[in-house]
Amino acid sequence: MIKLAIVVPCYNEQEVLPSTNKQLTELMAGLIGRGKVTKESFILYVNDGSRDDTWSIIERYAHEHETVQGLKLAGNVGHQNALLAGLMTVKNEVDAAISIDADLQDDIGVITDMIDKFETGCDIVYGVRNARKTDTFFKRVTAEGFYKVMKVMGAKSIYNHADYRLMSSRALDGLSQYKERNLFLRGIVPTIGFKSDCVYYERKERLAGESKYPINKMIAFAFDGITSFSIKPMSYIMGIGVFLILCAIVFAIYSFHSYLTGNVVRGWTSIVLSLWFIGGLVLFSVGMVGQYIGKIYIEVKERPRYIVECRETGSDDAIEQNS
Ligand code: UDP
Ligand code: MG
Repeated sequence: MIKLAIVVPCYNEQEVLPSTNKQLTELMAGLIGRGKVTKESFILYVNDGSRDDTWSIIERYAHEHETVQGLKLAGNVGHQNALLAGLMTVKNEVDAAISIDADLQDDIGVITDMIDKFETGCDIVYGVRNARKTDTFFKRVTAEGFYKVMKVMGAKSIYNHADYRLMSSRALDGLSQYKERNLFLRGIVPTIGFKSDCVYYERKERLAGESKYPINKMIAFAFDGITSFSIKPMSYIMGIGVFLILCAIVFAIYSFHSYLTGNVVRGWTSIVLSLWFIGGLVLFSVGMVGQYIGKIYIEVKERPRYIVECRETGSDDAIEQNS
């Protein structure tokens, strides 16, 4: 049996909490009843500096239910940081933690499958939506576009996976070694390693309240995801520079030809040539400088270069390495 924590970041979620809590506590009771998880397992609500009654509701639930706990952050730090706070709080107390949004758009029915996969040796189990029927057309297009752009820009991420996943305590330990401030969990987690798997479900509509991710936040989030995972955009700029310089060469031939045939206004040749050539050179140089800055950027993040899974000493019991 495993000890499980379900971590739920909550920002102004007073409308959904009653229903969410009902479903999650029932689920937890069921899991405990069926002997899937130990009775010390719990749900941790992380209050991300809500301005409504979220925290007082969480406090009340924590008193009413044995399986409910709350964590209050001092201020609003955003979804990703709130989630990290919750995960880091539980990482040494449990065998595995599942993160899920407060609105329960992600199907809690697959939590059992996640636990099964964990028991068969997976350290990370991603919840992946296989359809977006309930999302509005706009949300679907923007969200799917998001994953595609991310991929082109070189950030590693699991298609159609948000922050609904199970992580073992050693995967969480791995995660704790990532020192970056610009947190994009769904990009970081796949870089940790370990055996992983996916479970599939259909995404539901938000229970109540409204999305805390309007379009401007989504764009900011996508931008964050790209810029904190890859320095590819810099290579693209360099590429454009090279392309312009090549254009300049073509233009050189063309304008020289025009010049020789005398078919041209005085001064045109030199202006057109320098325009393309200098433009290309400038972009190329900016991209070049960007490459160095990108390298510095990667270095200052001080990410772990490797994460040890286990060590075999040849003696009877293998020593689990959790560093
Ligand atoms: N959230 C948070 N801090 C914030 C914004 C959102 O903790 O500053 C939480 C929110 O309570 C929810 C989750 O992040 O549990 C995802 O937000 P939401 O459901 O609004 O996003 P969407 O599903 O629309 O992308
Ligand atoms: Mg949601």
